[in-house]
Amino acid sequence: MNILERLLDLLYREKDICFVCGDHIPRLSGHICADCRDDLSFVGPKRCSICGISLRAYRDDKLYLCRDCEVRPKHFEKAVAPLEYSGLSRKLIREFKYQDELHYKKMFGEMIVQKILDSDMENADLVLGVPLSLKKENKRGYNQAKLLSDYISKKLGIKSGEGLLLRTTDTNVQNVLGKAQRIKNLKNAFAVASPDKIKGKSILLIDDIYTTGATVDECAKTLLECGANSVTIATVATAVDRKYKEE
Ligand SMILES: [Zn+2]
Ligand SMILES: [Zn+2]
Repeated sequence: MNILERLLDLLYREKDICFVCGDHIPRLSGHICADCRDDLSFVGPKRCSICGISLRAYRDDKLYLCRDCEVRPKHFEKAVAPLEYSGLSRKLIREFKYQDELHYKKMFGEMIVQKILDSDMENADLVLGVPLSLKKENKRGYNQAKLLSDYISKKLGIKSGEGLLLRTTDTNVQNVLGKAQRIKNLKNAFAVASPDKIKGKSILLIDDIYTTGATVDECAKTLLECGANSVTIATVATAVDRKYKEE
């Protein structure tokens, strides 16, 4: 690195550096430059009205569901995501998840915040991330869904509900729950620590990717059973309906 580059590094703040290619771009918005943004595939209007996955075959209906949502009704109201889980997005999310690229939370966080606003989902009472098992979180050192939910909480002023949704496989959770609840939760993967805190609340649940939707729907089911009024989902990326992609 020559002197000029060092000076540039000092002069330009982090927000002027593209997180993807590392270029200095003055007044860069959202931590990603236009060229790198072009390499990402964003979810377009052709998507399932409920789970939000991209659909390649699409009728111009107001309510168009993917095959999964047609046969399996969801507990959550709707799920949205800015990106399709493919190509560059997939690479970046994997780096965020497994390679400690924690600063990506700002880039992804900005994208999700915009999507939440565009989808009129910013009026939720509580925002929280899908919990990892404590074993996994301790091994990884962080939970990427929680990093995003904290970012969204600060940016949109939605109260954080972190710590309220728990994995029932965690042994300390078994101690927190009463015996009756413990028996009920043997069947479920998730539980709520203080149901009174989510009673009647609309909850925005955050995760990194939406693939089958099984995990977030299980979380939504638990939250509703424990008294939540409604659950909406926002993830960084969502699956592409591959069957339709080939047609
Ligand atoms: Zn770039
Ligand atoms: Zn769907």
